[in-house]
Amino acid sequence: MKESYLGVNVSPLTYEGIIEEICLRISRNEQSTIIAVNPEKVMTAQKDPQVRDLINGATFQIADGVGILLASKLKKGTITSRVTGVDMMARLLKFAQDDQQPIYLYGAKKEVVEKAAANIQKDYPGIPIAGMTDGYEQDEEALVQRIHDSGARILFVALGSPKQELWIRRNMERLRNVLVFQGVGGSFDVFSG
Ligand code: UDP
Repeated sequence: MKESYLGVNVSPLTYEGIIEEICLRISRNEQSTIIAVNPEKVMTAQKDPQVRDLINGATFQIADGVGILLASKLKKGTITSRVTGVDMMARLLKFAQDDQQPIYLYGAKKEVVEKAAANIQKDYPGIPIAGMTDGYEQDEEALVQRIHDSGARILFVALGSPKQELWIRRNMERLRNVLVFQGVGGSFDVFSG
């Protein structure tokens, strides 16, 4: 059961719960989207119903930021631990390594995404990296084709919010072979460090 904060949904699932659910959805060939929710986004959603719908339209809204935990505690909700975007990405990388699901990294500066990919390859030996593109690519059509042709099954989009979520919503229909989309904000910067 999802919880709602000022009209914004948040999933009470843990990392393990989300991975489990994603496995199930992959077996049914269903696409999943993951979006991180923090108090800042909840506030933006108050002023902009489009942002609210964008968040609520995702498959999993993860509770990034302690503000959501606090709010859940106050209303005696069920969210007991944070699920951060960067740790969620790490869990998905482990899953991709174990399950041999090809990943694609899209976003951040060229040197950042390249360094992040190199570190991921080192930390998750054998992980299939289908491709990468920096976040300043102009030709969206060509990029979508490239991601499609790469055989990627899990796509991480690091363009900042809500740009990355809008990109995912706009293009997921055309990327039917990609089954997991996560908007990861500054996470490539973390992985490149
Ligand atoms: N970025 C990008 N293309 C853009 C704008 C931003 O690739 O057109 C990248 C930027 O280089 C950085 C990330 O998106 O790596 C934004 O991270 P930020 O921490 O600002 O995102 P947030 O988590 O705050 O949404």
